[in-house]
Amino acid sequence: MKLYSTKNTAKFVSLKEAVFKGLPEDNGLYMPESLPRLPDSFIKNLKDYSFQDIGFEICKHLFTGAIPENDLREIIENSITFPAPVVSLDDETNILELFHGPSLAFKDFGARFMAQLMSYFNRGDDRELVILVATSGDTGGAVAAGFFKTPGIRVVILYPSGKVSHLQEKQLTTLGENVSAIEVDGTFDDCQALVKKAFLDENLTAKIRLSSANSINIARLIPQSFYYFEAFKQLVDNGRPVVFCVPSGNFGNLTAGLFAKRMGLPIHRFIAATNVNDVVPEYLKSGVYTPRPSVPTLSNAMDVGNPSNFARMLDLYCSTWNNLKEEISGYAFSDEETMAAVREVFEKYNYVIDPHGAVGYLAFRQFQKDNPGNFNGVILETAHPSKFLPDVESILQQKIDVPERLAILANKEKRAKRLGVAYEPFKDWLLNEF
Ligand SMILES: *Cc1c(COP(=O)(O)O)cnc(C)c1O
Repeated sequence: MKLYSTKNTAKFVSLKEAVFKGLPEDNGLYMPESLPRLPDSFIKNLKDYSFQDIGFEICKHLFTGAIPENDLREIIENSITFPAPVVSLDDETNILELFHGPSLAFKDFGARFMAQLMSYFNRGDDRELVILVATSGDTGGAVAAGFFKTPGIRVVILYPSGKVSHLQEKQLTTLGENVSAIEVDGTFDDCQALVKKAFLDENLTAKIRLSSANSINIARLIPQSFYYFEAFKQLVDNGRPVVFCVPSGNFGNLTAGLFAKRMGLPIHRFIAATNVNDVVPEYLKSGVYTPRPSVPTLSNAMDVGNPSNFARMLDLYCSTWNNLKEEISGYAFSDEETMAAVREVFEKYNYVIDPHGAVGYLAFRQFQKDNPGNFNGVILETAHPSKFLPDVESILQQKIDVPERLAILANKEKRAKRLGVAYEPFKDWLLNEF
């Protein structure tokens, strides 16, 4: 398997290089040289494959030559460790629950898979790999859990003191073992500046093998294509065209769906669902892409003004607006509409949906209004509603269930090294620790 940069399609790197580098030097994004069409017999007989089997089949065809099959099987078994069940609301509307992992959001799939791949590629090296991550909350939790107890890898998470939620802080600071947390007396930007400075510090990188767990790493995208197949497998085959509706921010999830379709999964259409940060729905409507500063909303994991995976979407469709809008419909909704949708889903179906999933629900309903005929719709539920407990409880005016893996965090002890924004103490801490 080889990968190119969206900014230079003639220069290739190995999977190992793409995974460790994250970003090409030209600031493009890595893309697989080809997305192989999977055998018809596999797609027709998905029901005979477990979720792990599905991941294995996809990687077997995609990673040709990069990883021996035995090792690949082990990587998949260690990364796909929780299910992605489909729950049916009515005969056209299904919810794909992607929140059964440790941090209760779909990002757990990508984080675990990336951790396993890095650990695998690092095996021959006797130096530990140290992953540095700055987080404003959510990504850090998924990365911390994803890398937890991964052999040969230590993780250092920097977060801004007092600026992440209590629960998010617990997710970052209570794991221990190979995961360390640094509480920075500053902002998220200060955390990011410390990490950047460390990567550029040759004196430090000569002593410690550093890497990042960037959200645009191709290793995070690939496993996200597995659950499109897994969802398709669980749908009742009623002959209706299958439509996937994806609540989106940086559009990694939707891009992974486009990968799945390219690999042969018969998806009729995608719906890009956003909050008022609607640059992609606007592009689909007008053909003009206008990035702009993001606006805070209730579905805050989608508050993105210049989606990083847009370059990958364009690359897949030869940068042609006509091709993209043939495959993807886009809709955007306000916080008021989102709150009303959380209430509607609860009242109609007795299902508690989170604000991100609610944006997806609205988009699918609008798509049904705009398009004649019946569909088999799948809305990606990207996080568990209890991640947004105060908002969801105030919208529904009642208490909701909190999964045990979240509830037990409350009693765990926080462990974090507290530092200021100056670089030298951070560097000294790293040198002392590793
Ligand atoms: C990250 C995230 C999103 C956005 O996903 P993208 O792949 O960036 O489009 C949506 N919902 C939740 C809950 C998230 O954490």
